Amino acid sequence: MTGNSTGPGGDHFFAGSYGGNDAALPDDAVMECRICWHVYEPAQGDEVWQIPPGTPFSALPEHWTCPNCDAPKSDFLLISGDREASGG
Ligand SMILES: [Zn+2]
Repeated sequence: MTGNSTGPGGDHFFAGSYGGNDAALPDDAVMECRICWHVYEPAQGDEVWQIPPGTPFSALPEHWTCPNCDAPKSDFLLISGDREASGG
């Protein structure tokens, strides 16, 4: 009696991707849309979705999508880590 087939769930984990597990994201994680490169900064929130400043990406509603191209949260990539110092 055979038939022990495992599910198709491959554990692909790309560098820069958070794997859809937004609960593991830090509160100050800056996320970037991989479709249109829109950047979500928690410190600024999202005026389109009326997200107040200081809202972490992990706290965004499930139906939240990219305000620029309507891409789902799973299409966002974690880009925070090394912050470039802009001239000031
Ligand atoms: Zn987008």
